[in-house]
Amino acid sequence: MGGRAGKPAKQQAPSSDLDWPGAGQEVAFRRALIRWFRRHQRDLPWREQPDGYRIWVSEIMLQQTQVATVVAYYQRFLQRFPEVNSLAEADESEVLKLWEGLGYYRRARQLHAAARQIVARHGGEFPSTFADVLALPGVGRYTAGAIMSIAFDQPQPILEGNTIRVFARLLGMTECAREKASEQRLWSFSQSLLPPGEGSRDLNQGLMELGSELCRVRQPACLLCPVSRWCRAFAEGIQDQLPVLTPRMEYVPRQDGLVLIRRGRKLLLRKCAEGEHWTGLWDFPRVTLAEAAPQPVSPQVSRLAEQAFQRELGLSVAVEPAGKRLKHAVTKYRITLDCFWGKLQGRVPKGRGEWAWVAAEELPRLALNATGRKVADWLAEAM
Ligand code: SF4
Repeated sequence: MGGRAGKPAKQQAPSSDLDWPGAGQEVAFRRALIRWFRRHQRDLPWREQPDGYRIWVSEIMLQQTQVATVVAYYQRFLQRFPEVNSLAEADESEVLKLWEGLGYYRRARQLHAAARQIVARHGGEFPSTFADVLALPGVGRYTAGAIMSIAFDQPQPILEGNTIRVFARLLGMTECAREKASEQRLWSFSQSLLPPGEGSRDLNQGLMELGSELCRVRQPACLLCPVSRWCRAFAEGIQDQLPVLTPRMEYVPRQDGLVLIRRGRKLLLRKCAEGEHWTGLWDFPRVTLAEAAPQPVSPQVSRLAEQAFQRELGLSVAVEPAGKRLKHAVTKYRITLDCFWGKLQGRVPKGRGEWAWVAAEELPRLALNATGRKVADWLAEAM
């Protein structure tokens, strides 16, 4: 477990300025929350030995991903990379393979790059100051605050999905929580709750645990809540309406095409190049057909796909429908992916990533993106 280190937190914002019914009672609030947390906290593997490295890996995995999904990935990852040096020395392809299925693969590449940075700049010791942790690739203000408070018990504020919800309800915030002014108020509130000395580790974990276990998105369990007496939303009976979150983005429909080109028992795959969404992962050749609602696969759509494979990947291929359609989401896109069988018309292209003929039995060993893996599993049954 890491000791206290680094700079102390900034001056606390007075919670009285934040219009919170618990202003002036922060000590009692913390005591109630921490007591509840110590009794009810979930048994999670990164809580067994909360040092900087383990908390960092868990926090990166938990970005955009549910705890229940992360646990097995975390255990596998820690078994293979028990400390920073082993991660830094690994091949990126191995890191991506262990990450396969977790999504948001940029996180894995940044984690790997950050491990190398820790070895180069800190001799392989996980840094123990907020500034050094914040300087790591893939670490933002929240993640740095979580690492510093949980691993080093430093008084650093946090603000993520669970705490946004808890804070907005405690404050009875009826403005959109995503607006800049609201966000600033929520950060100030998080700061105002921190104890001056030790205790931020359990406070911050308790706040997130409360958001996950009791102060849920739907039907918060207010009657079991250890801090309900300081909650404005509960007092006013508006907890189900908060936080107010206007949609962050408008979703755009898109139709993509993926082609399966066989040579004996081998299939043509492409390793996505730098700057692509799945950089470093293997994929079947895939293109965008249209940014529009999906059309049924027809001869016309097949011709459109052939043109797109030529234009986007330099791949001359004659396609016919494979009868496999998948739906998935990438950033703002809601994608319908249609699979085609393909007959190569010329050579395998050069550039636009790395190309390779891969034996069907080798596919389980490659790091594929999620839909690529689904297609590979489907093929394993079909071939
Ligand atoms: Fe959340 Fe209800 Fe507790 Fe308020 S009283 S913090 S709404 S669980």
